[in-house]
Amino acid sequence: MKLYQETIHSLHDKLKAGDITSRQITESVLERIDAVDEKVRAFITRMDELALQMADAADERFRKGESLGSLDGIPVALKDIFLTEGILTTCGSRILENFVAPYDGTAVSQLKMEGAVFVGKTNMDEFAMGSSTENSGFFPTHNPWDLERVPGGSSGGSAATVAAGEAIFALGTDTGGSIRQPASHCGVVGIKPTYGRVSRYGVIAFASSLDQVGPITRDVMDGAILLKAISGHDPADSTSANVPVPDYPSLLTGDVEGMKAGLPAEYFEEGLDPQVEEIVRKAVADLEKRGMEIVPVSLPSTKYAVATYYIIAPAEASSNLARYDGVRFGVRYPDAKGLTEMYKKTRSRGFGPEVQRRIMLGTFALSAGYYDAYYGKAQRVRTIIRREFDEAFTKADVILSPTAPTPAFPLGEKVDDPLQMYLTDICTIPVNIAGVAAMSVPCGLTSSGLPVGLHVISSPFTEDLMLNVAYAYEQERGEFPRCPL
Ligand code: GLN
Repeated sequence: MKLYQETIHSLHDKLKAGDITSRQITESVLERIDAVDEKVRAFITRMDELALQMADAADERFRKGESLGSLDGIPVALKDIFLTEGILTTCGSRILENFVAPYDGTAVSQLKMEGAVFVGKTNMDEFAMGSSTENSGFFPTHNPWDLERVPGGSSGGSAATVAAGEAIFALGTDTGGSIRQPASHCGVVGIKPTYGRVSRYGVIAFASSLDQVGPITRDVMDGAILLKAISGHDPADSTSANVPVPDYPSLLTGDVEGMKAGLPAEYFEEGLDPQVEEIVRKAVADLEKRGMEIVPVSLPSTKYAVATYYIIAPAEASSNLARYDGVRFGVRYPDAKGLTEMYKKTRSRGFGPEVQRRIMLGTFALSAGYYDAYYGKAQRVRTIIRREFDEAFTKADVILSPTAPTPAFPLGEKVDDPLQMYLTDICTIPVNIAGVAAMSVPCGLTSSGLPVGLHVISSPFTEDLMLNVAYAYEQERGEFPRCPL
């Protein structure tokens, strides 16, 4: 196995033993990027020089016996939504094509404190609005398993780097599925923690009541290591939770005997690809073999989740994106006659069609006369969806479903049909609406060799249970096939 193909934990062991250096790992990853990124196009910004400097600093620490922890010296790719001091941070948008972040977001500084090596900023749907990375203001990313297909989105660049060996792990964000869906399509592990588990400080805001930061990794152990590193209370984010952070990696026993897994009928209905269903049901059976009891649960308002999301998320986005006006933030249109024209031209030129659509939807939903009919109603449905999850979690420890209803679709297939694109998040969106935790773990390949993800959902702040179920499944599954690229 090449160094760029390994996991955080295997590399950490070798670094600690002095068998390899961070420079060797980093060079292996950078060479891999040179070899494949022309095809995958996962990065908006590469930072080879900084990466090598960070690697040398890590090696120096290992030499002196002052290593910082389990991420020390390990290469990471960051979604371009994270503010990184002194480094271009575009959020996938032309309006921020020259924006250099003035400080590091909290998750980024936590990674720095743990010694991780930054290799680059990854491509994404503009302002995280999308499910395929085709809404990037720059270029689409390709799925490393099949270059004609999308990697999923909006954290498609991050998921693709981990699948293709262009980073050992990556950081993403998930507002309606943007970590889990691309993880599922790229055959890697993706975790959306409980709302409030990870600080959102220094993460460019899309829909603030739904956004969460989370890990994208090659296996569940790496996910647990990374989640532990980035979790915790942050006074700079008033929605971050003051709940103790368990030592997730040490809680992975693989013992799920007697635990209950709920299967919601509503997630196995029409629209689900038959191969995806078969593969996911086999994964559920694997967990049953491990002693889990499978019980039926009901989440009847699932059918309203996407509609609810497409009121709440655009409403919040329309407010969050008001700051890109060419004055406070954003590339200003140069030749406008007067302020109003400058605003209009700056925003019309800087934002792509999906972002403009969301701003208009959101502004409409919040306008006087329509507020109660749309936003007010969506908030009430949100409460019902949350209660249904609470109720389901009285019967089951975790809930299992497919992460996405289909495997990765061909580039270009849905990009002109927003409704079809929105429906790809049908399994992941309810989780953000309810604020609970969920993750995707690779559970098989379709007959055409495309990865499928098992979605494990757990109640707020029980990521330890969720991770352990995913870990138990991974043990039962065995080694996952490596991406053919
Ligand atoms: N695909 C969904 C959207 O476009 C979710 C995106 C996300 O989670 N950031 O809003």
